[in-house]
Amino acid sequence: MIFEKMASEDYEQIIFCHDKTSGLKGIIAIHDTTLGPALGGCRVWNYESEEEALIDAMRLAKGMTYKNAAAGLNLGGGKSVIIADPKKDKTEAMFRAFGRYVESLNGRYITAADVGTNPEILDIVYQETDYVVGISESYGSSGDPSPVTAMGVYNAILRTAKEAFGDDSLKGKTIAIQGCGSVAYSLCKHLHKDGAKMIVTDIDEDAVNRVVDEFGAEKVGVDEIYEVEADIFSPCALGAILNDETIPKLKVKAICGSANNQLEDIEKHGQMLKERGIIYAPDFIANAGGVINVADELLGYNRERALEKAAGIYDQIGLVFDIAKKENITTAEAADKMAEERIETMKEIRSNYIRTEHNILTER
Ligand code: NAD
Repeated sequence: MIFEKMASEDYEQIIFCHDKTSGLKGIIAIHDTTLGPALGGCRVWNYESEEEALIDAMRLAKGMTYKNAAAGLNLGGGKSVIIADPKKDKTEAMFRAFGRYVESLNGRYITAADVGTNPEILDIVYQETDYVVGISESYGSSGDPSPVTAMGVYNAILRTAKEAFGDDSLKGKTIAIQGCGSVAYSLCKHLHKDGAKMIVTDIDEDAVNRVVDEFGAEKVGVDEIYEVEADIFSPCALGAILNDETIPKLKVKAICGSANNQLEDIEKHGQMLKERGIIYAPDFIANAGGVINVADELLGYNRERALEKAAGIYDQIGLVFDIAKKENITTAEAADKMAEERIETMKEIRSNYIRTEHNILTER
């Protein structure tokens, strides 16, 4: 069953990691390394079965292939999961054992933070391997990714506005924002500077009040955000919020935000938005600033460079819109196509022979 699943979506490698002393039960899934080493976070989750963990690792790894490729990074897609209760099972020994497995892959997989892991945990992993990004800032790593993610989302909004309204000025435009957390707060700074009006909501009163006080945003209830009169809706809280129930309520012309997996069903809800004439900026393109930020550590971290690259999401979103129009497909489908095309092109340009030290030793 495993090889069948790997073959059906072209996975390269799955590594099962076990350590008796620490109780580590981990899975590292490497989907595609055409563009470079597979980069993707390590999730700790209380999976109900090993099969559920495997399926999650594989799904998330493939997602990283697309995200990294579309962001223009020279990185492939991978992800790891550890089967454990994130509240009580996490130990130093477990993450060191995990780090040793990452090290054993010799750079084919680079790990990072995800649900259930954070910079402090990655510092433990770092004791066993250099193939980890997003460790504590005191070690010279990239630190909080939110401002870089927000820079990417802001640029994605600009390009989306251009598509929807003919120009990318946000002056006088109304943006409805769901969630006022780290990314949304930084995003609001950019939007406010551009003269946009903001309608915001959050389940956390302090978070909403901060953007109301600092940027003059208007506050609405959590269920009201889908129905407000606005130009652009920016989901910056949860996944699966574009669904059968919410899409008919929307009064906006476009959607662009940082939340992961916004479409409950990529095909169905992507199509519903297309039919309603609502322009959707695919989430994994718009929010790639986060991975762009940690990936920059591999070059010796430079925040200015990371911010500049995240601003390049303006053009990436533009390419997605162009593909969608040309092929008459949804923007979600166009985003996948853009990623696949980049991978295929790079495969082609690398098909010529280059003499390396290794070849010299083995070609006879
Ligand atoms: P965060 O936890 O700082 O903010 C999320 C906010 O959403 C919180 O203030 C929370 O109270 C609010 N929220 C939760 N449920 C809500 C609801 N039902 N209605 C309204 N608000 C609700 O997280 P963040 O780092 O700002 O990330 C926001 C989203 O962007 C997440 O989906 C995250 O996965 C995604 N993302 C973040 C980054 C990053 O760099 N931080 C990168 C890529 C993607």
